[in-house]
Parts: sequence; C-alpha cells; structure tokens
Amino acid sequence: MLPTLFLSHGAPTLVLEDVPARGFLAGLGTRLGRPKAVLVVSAHWETDRPLVSAVPRNGTIHDFHGFPRALYELSYPAPGDVALAERVAGLLRGAGLGAGLDTARGLDHGAWVPLLLMYPEADIPVLQLSIQTRQGPAYHLALGKALRPLREDGVLVIGSGSFTHDLTSFRGQGLDAPEPGWVSAFADWTDRALVEGRTDDLLSYRRLAPHAARNHPTEEHLLPLFAALGAGTEGGKAERLHRSATFGILRMDAYAFG
Ligand code: ZN
Repeated sequence: MLPTLFLSHGAPTLVLEDVPARGFLAGLGTRLGRPKAVLVVSAHWETDRPLVSAVPRNGTIHDFHGFPRALYELSYPAPGDVALAERVAGLLRGAGLGAGLDTARGLDHGAWVPLLLMYPEADIPVLQLSIQTRQGPAYHLALGKALRPLREDGVLVIGSGSFTHDLTSFRGQGLDAPEPGWVSAFADWTDRALVEGRTDDLLSYRRLAPHAARNHPTEEHLLPLFAALGAGTEGGKAERLHRSATFGILRMDAYAFG
C-alpha cells in the first residue's frame, strides 16, 4: 500500500529552479510507483466546508502574481475522476464532515507544482480536496482519517503545504540564503514530534513548538500535514523523505506516513 505524503510545494518558481527540493520531487514519482489516482489536500484551496473537485479534466490555475511568464505557460491537464470524487465526498459525510463537489475547480499550484515534477506525463487522474483553515489541526486530522480507505484502492493522498511559511520575512534574499534559528528550531521540534509519533503534541504545536506563530502566521500551509498524518496508518510513525530550505525561511521538508 502506498504511504500518504506531506509535501512542501515552495514558491511556484520551484519547477524552474535548480534546488534540492526540485530534485527530490522529480525523483519521487519513480520511487513511489504509479498510483491509480492522486488526491491533493492543498493549502491554496480554503472553503467553509470540504469540497472535492469533480471534473472530467483538470484546468490549471495560475494562482500567483508577478512571477516569470514561463510559469504562466505551464499547464498540468491531468484527467479528473468524478466517480472517485463522489466516493471521497461520501467518505467525508460518513465521518460527519459535510462535503460537497465542485464541478468547475482546476488544480492550483499547491497541486500542480509537485505533480508536474513527480508525474510529468499528467496522465494519472487527480482530485483536490479543500481545507477549512478556521477548524484547526484536530479537524484536519479527522479529515485525513476519513480518507484512509482510499489508500486500499491505490489512491495516493498528498497534503501539500509548507513546513515553514513566514512570507513576511522574505526580503529578496537568495534561494540559498542562510536559515534563521527560529526556522530551524520550529522545524527540529516538529520533525522530532512526527518521527516519534507524538500526535497529541503536534495537535498542540501552536503552544508547544518554538516560534510556531512566527513560522506559520496563519495555519493554512501546515494543516495539510495533519490531513496526511490522519490518512496514514493509526500509530504509524512518520518518515522524513526530504529536508532543505529555500530563501532561508521556507523549509521544503517532506514526510511519508506508512
Ligand atoms: Zn503555497
């Protein structure tokens, strides 16, 4: 059975930059093998209740501004899977989470940036599931748990966010800028809690982890981690697949949950 994944998608320019995180993602599809379908819980789709994209073919959403033109010319026209979207919504409703379908939504860059690197042929069906940022970590852990049966059907569940994400600290520094201590301290704490399977501590990360609010002024880029954790096996521990940073402040770490 495939693991579930948490991936840091970084800036949209990741697909164009020669950085370690790009190399990691470019090798990840081959390493995992080919799933029957991919479900991405992306930080860039926030709604009041869970929505599942249900389209025959995905459009590509260029949900960013002021980046090089080459980025706007990229597309990821993967097929969707309407029947699977209905199954996902049914699983969420069965867990008491009201869920609906979105019959127009395409893929935002939280989904297509990593997938373009992992599965460049864009021939595997892809669905997205929205997050409900105001509901916090425990809710997204439950959301992930509801998705567990999908793994037995060969669906790869990916939470796509960012391990650290304080964009207010971006001052035009280079991709390989040194990593500030407040970034490392948060990342180290969170890594230990994941690898040691301390889910209760993780749920209280805002109180327990050093510099939590600074690294995540808002929670939307960390909540997909809880969805991926929830979709993994109960009591299963996390395996760190990758660690690096871009611009010093964006940790690009990735985890697998068995
Ligand atoms: Zn993002």
